[in-house]
Amino acid sequence: MRFSFVTLFPDLIKGYFTESILKRAIEDEKISIDFTNPRDFTTDKHNRVDAPMIGGGAGMLMTPQPLMDTLKNIRKNSENAHIIFLSPVAKRFTQNDAKRLAKKEHVVFVSGRYEGIDERVIEAEADELFSIGDYILTGGELASMVVCDAISRNVEGVLGNSDSLSVESFEEELLEAPSFTKPTIYENNEVVSEFLKGNHSKITDLKRGLSLCKTKYFRPDLYKQKV
Ligand code: SAM
Repeated sequence: MRFSFVTLFPDLIKGYFTESILKRAIEDEKISIDFTNPRDFTTDKHNRVDAPMIGGGAGMLMTPQPLMDTLKNIRKNSENAHIIFLSPVAKRFTQNDAKRLAKKEHVVFVSGRYEGIDERVIEAEADELFSIGDYILTGGELASMVVCDAISRNVEGVLGNSDSLSVESFEEELLEAPSFTKPTIYENNEVVSEFLKGNHSKITDLKRGLSLCKTKYFRPDLYKQKV
């Protein structure tokens, strides 16, 4: 699967893919990443990509021309490009979106900067918009990395053990049950004793119960959907 990042600051993103699971996914050709900087497409003689807002308002906005030309160029070269704008005003990105988008061939992330992007570009080119939460970041780069990471884990072959996907939080609208590792006793605190006895069907039942309790406590909104 191919991911393209449209950003004024590609170096903010590149480092994330140089370690661990996503580095290996690139080496194994399960995913690929590339970058396009709208500044390379500007026709402004001073290389500007931003301008003050028309009608007033504090701060600058990304101007239409460099970004439109960037995205038109991407579409010209990739008929399957699915263009996602990161925006705090959009619907919240979820695990279901991650699973759905993992089936696409080519996903393009557009990161805004300054006070955002001229609305005409979004209207013309966005296939989809996502927010990663109700707060304002300085730019879309972090948000596009979050969304890309979550999608990548669902691309076949990216995780060594695909079973780990099926028991994770948000599968079936439940949070994952509490997990433990060695030692069995740490600072006088012993792991749930049933986990040590090796009866797998009992452990499965117990984990299900704990998962429901945890969801009820931490995410009553999800719990209500479940019961
Ligand atoms: N003026 C905009 C507003 O009030 O809605 C905020 C612009 S923000 C400073 C600059 C860019 O950061 C946005 O264009 C978007 O790409 C990104 N961004 C900020 N917060 C985000 C969030 N919660 N989710 C996704 N992207 C976000």
